[in-house]
Amino acid sequence: MNGEQKPVEALSEDEAAAELQRLVAAIAEYDRLYYQDDAPGVTDAEYDALRRRNLAIETRFPALKRPDSPTERVGAKPAGKFSKVRHSLPMLSLDNAFNDGDVGDFVDRIRRFLGLAADAPVVLTAEPKIDGLSASLRYENGRLVVGATRGDGTVGEEITANLRTMDDIPKKLPDGVPDVVEVRGEVYMSHADFAALNKRMEESGRVFANPRNAAAGSLRQLDPAITAERPLKFFAYGWGEMSAMPAGTQMGMVETFAAWGFSISPLMKVFNGTSELLEHYRKIEAQRAGLGYDIDGVVYKVDDLALQERLGFASRFPRWAIAHKFPAEKATTVLEDIEIQVGRTGALTPVAKLRPVTVGGVVVSNATLHNEDYIKGIGRDGEPIRDGKDIRAGDTVTVQRAGDVIPQVIDVDLSQRRVDSKPFEFPTTCPECGSDAVREHDEKTGRVDAVRRCTGGLICPAQAIERLKHFVSRGAFDIEGLGDKQVDVFYKDGLIAHPSDIFTLRERDERSLKKLKDREGFGETSAKKLFDSIDARRSVELYRFIYGLGIRHVGEGTAKLLARTYGNWASVEEAARSAHDENSDARANLLAIDGIGATAVEAIAQFFAEDHNLEELKRLLENVTPQDVVAVQSDSPVAGKTVVFTGSLEQMSRDEAKAMAERLGAKVSGSVSSKTDLVVAGPGAGSKLKKAAELGVDTTDEDGWFKLIGR
Ligand code: NAD
Repeated sequence: MNGEQKPVEALSEDEAAAELQRLVAAIAEYDRLYYQDDAPGVTDAEYDALRRRNLAIETRFPALKRPDSPTERVGAKPAGKFSKVRHSLPMLSLDNAFNDGDVGDFVDRIRRFLGLAADAPVVLTAEPKIDGLSASLRYENGRLVVGATRGDGTVGEEITANLRTMDDIPKKLPDGVPDVVEVRGEVYMSHADFAALNKRMEESGRVFANPRNAAAGSLRQLDPAITAERPLKFFAYGWGEMSAMPAGTQMGMVETFAAWGFSISPLMKVFNGTSELLEHYRKIEAQRAGLGYDIDGVVYKVDDLALQERLGFASRFPRWAIAHKFPAEKATTVLEDIEIQVGRTGALTPVAKLRPVTVGGVVVSNATLHNEDYIKGIGRDGEPIRDGKDIRAGDTVTVQRAGDVIPQVIDVDLSQRRVDSKPFEFPTTCPECGSDAVREHDEKTGRVDAVRRCTGGLICPAQAIERLKHFVSRGAFDIEGLGDKQVDVFYKDGLIAHPSDIFTLRERDERSLKKLKDREGFGETSAKKLFDSIDARRSVELYRFIYGLGIRHVGEGTAKLLARTYGNWASVEEAARSAHDENSDARANLLAIDGIGATAVEAIAQFFAEDHNLEELKRLLENVTPQDVVAVQSDSPVAGKTVVFTGSLEQMSRDEAKAMAERLGAKVSGSVSSKTDLVVAGPGAGSKLKKAAELGVDTTDEDGWFKLIGR
């Protein structure tokens, strides 16, 4: 991987055996990360190099080939979370060609295999190799019945419901198609959709590394509703079981799929011989950057299906097809500086400022360094990357344009490092606003988030516009006449920088010479209307106020839970501020709220620990009053009943129990009488429980209470 390996010819048998063992383990682990977690551990070029080395060693020492050799395997076993589908015909991988010579060899092999003359024409198709994940769609009597991933080639994951959500996938084929049709192709995501999705994903702290991972991660969701929201596309290029063949050539089959309503690659064409193929390869390579989706090579396939049949399959791939990969685009340059950019959701992203260099025909002067750990040479799971080499200003580095999206720094030449260079110190405060920047702990994975984030949500200029848009959005303050467009303009013109500024707009406008009514797009009426709708929100439901603050991980649902639990702003604030102390009761109480996770609680505590936020909150509260939650549910099962809580309650505090019952329309009393309808008794309950028994009043325990009220 690092160029210092011994040539395969120089390996002893022992060394070869040891290296094969290492390679098999490494490849298996990278396969798992790539195929099951949709999060690659290394670049494709590095991965391909490992596989090539493995194959080269196996070829030289055939006796050492291991039973678990990756040379015999396709993909990875299906992840346990899905049901499994056995493919009627295996879904294989493709053999690779890395240069023109490999393509010539491929065509020669075909001729030899078929016993053709060395100059006999071989007709092949050429089409882009789309960088997504393959899926198989089974139609019976024209209806989509099963959809699956490739999995390990023999058994895939059953994801019919997810595939059904995709517009590019017909649910029904035209009349007259064969009884059984299995169309195979690639699910992928366009660059534009990938960028937009990642922007949305930033909120949750997990972004996808590239469009392929985004497509795989989106398709392999347990909840098809999530897949439905993801912009996935599909190109049909192959098939599995067919009860009848509608065409006799590869091209004819794919054109038939197009006639049945599938998208096919417009760049697929039929050619005669190697030089024509290579010409088309260069043409596709030249168009690559402008296609709008990732491709990583060109696939050549023998066009005549009768010849395909004769050629058959090797262990992992068909003999009648090959993927001619594009070379990885790399270059060496000097990293002059490391800059920290603050994203619109507060993520601190290190960016390498490079001495401009041409990588794959494009001049690159910036490259992503991903995050703090990446700079230090630490990978996702804490294992070293780049052999643990850190990245410093002044270093000579290798830059790669991977999947032609964002250039990245993939290696450092230590021999060129200046003696006085120092490790990069990642800031722990936001360079934009000075607030603390923290790395969250992910409760699901148990890992510390790789991304450091600014906690100054309300005041950080880098996040301001997004926060303001969120603040006025429908679920939050929902201010009529103040939408994304107005926020953009008002922010740009310095009229609104913080949420509280919205509420001083009228007052400032009255004093100002340049009035809102005189601005373009405004008039007397619309200005007045805007001020009025702002005024109408000076009193706002508690949950809207909480949600509007834009605290990470606090969505509308969590805001509602907080509002319902605490009932008024003062209690929310007190709980949130006290929760900074990890051992506090306030923290425990927050954590005990069903539906609020540790990540959200942590984010709440951090938000309220940041002075800048508290200052803005204070300004905001001078202008806005969050309403107490008084909504009584008259239709609840305890509405109108008199309830007594006694004994020590374990799942809620006494105050919480009382507030909850009152919100459900019950009256809470301190003593049991003939008027009492229900006694809720925790452990240790004594006289009140006894009295209830004497009076024949219903009793229950905490579990019974929650069951009764439907929680
Ligand atoms: P592959 O991606 O090299 O080729 C086979 C696949 O190409 C098919 O299964 C199909 O999904 C796809 N394909 C796209 N367009 C096609 C077309 N027009 N016709 C036919 N097939 C088309 O093979 P693979 O076995 O899926 O994976 C190997 C590759 O995946 C490696 O070369 C590497 O680039 C990448 N990988 C990377 C890592 C990593 O850690 N970075 C790990 C595993 C695999």
